[in-house]
Amino acid sequence: RIITAESESPREDALERALRPRKLAEYVGQQKIRGQLEIFIEAAKRRKEALDHVLLFGPPGLGKTTLAHIVAHEMGVNLRSTSGPVLERAGDLAAILTNLEPHDVLFIDEIHRLSPVVEEILYPALEDFQIDIMIGEGPAARSVKLDLPPFTLVGATTRAGMLTNPLRDRFGIVARLEFYTPDELAHIIRRSAQLLNCEIADEGATEIARRSRGTPRIANRLLRRVRDFAEVKHDGAVTREIADAALIMLDVDHLGLDVMDRKLLSAMLEKFGGGPVGVDNLAAAIGEARDTIEDVLEPYLIQQGYLQRTPRGRVATPSIWRHFGLASPADPNR
Ligand code: ADP
Repeated sequence: RIITAESESPREDALERALRPRKLAEYVGQQKIRGQLEIFIEAAKRRKEALDHVLLFGPPGLGKTTLAHIVAHEMGVNLRSTSGPVLERAGDLAAILTNLEPHDVLFIDEIHRLSPVVEEILYPALEDFQIDIMIGEGPAARSVKLDLPPFTLVGATTRAGMLTNPLRDRFGIVARLEFYTPDELAHIIRRSAQLLNCEIADEGATEIARRSRGTPRIANRLLRRVRDFAEVKHDGAVTREIADAALIMLDVDHLGLDVMDRKLLSAMLEKFGGGPVGVDNLAAAIGEARDTIEDVLEPYLIQQGYLQRTPRGRVATPSIWRHFGLASPADPNR
């Protein structure tokens, strides 16, 4: 699948890292959280304190990891990176915490997937920079309190609603990342093209931006594929026509929907009469995990008004019936 939001191979990861902005000033869009961080980072630096803990939530590929790296860079500290599912035992997290330097940033991706025992360790660490660890086993076991250096946790999650309340309450700065506008994405694409030494017309960047599902990771990935197409089929320059031809070849339609989006939507229309249909039924019909539908596919389709989430299930809107060239049952002209 071309438009997975997750990164999929080590090579892709390396390319992604190369395109990652390093400073807050280079981070495009997300004005609200950028403005907040600018002030909080400056204040923390003046007071010579660690920055408050930061929780970032939003669909994959919108720049949560990038922002964690930027926070560390702007604070002039190291970043340690891990993820919820990787931290299986309390000791895994304790080992990381006790090795932090003062004011370091610890980034925990998929923080909603921390196990309850690991989460328990995290509470006093976040609040008092202390952890309780058990030493020894059986009757000789005793609990020891260890002081930690003050640090900043940056947690990332696709859905804030999946965090437990006590964990969420321990973040001083909470921000939801929004989908990017086509103008913002065009800006990111032009910057990436420059880094990749790729010649691109403004209309070429706009065309890719329009069809990138509001997501920088997808914009950068499509840019690289369009560049290949331009080099092989043309003189290497990305014009609007070349971008359009390449995107059609990549199965990204004019609305920017990819194969998976269309599979989901056409199942809704053809198998469930446009809904309402429960997400579990949809997942079974298209053979995808429920989480993928809720975290990766749906948010953009809802934001664009192609799909609605109602108490009785998901409903396709008239615009998507039209996009598929079908008459909506609700359409009075039918
Ligand atoms: P997430 O952690 O939310 O899944 P990432 O931080 O890994 O997303 O971002 C994916 C890619 O998108 C990064 O490699 C980066 O190049 C690009 N990117 C994300 N946000 C921005 C932004 N605001 N400005 C420029 N590039 C961005």
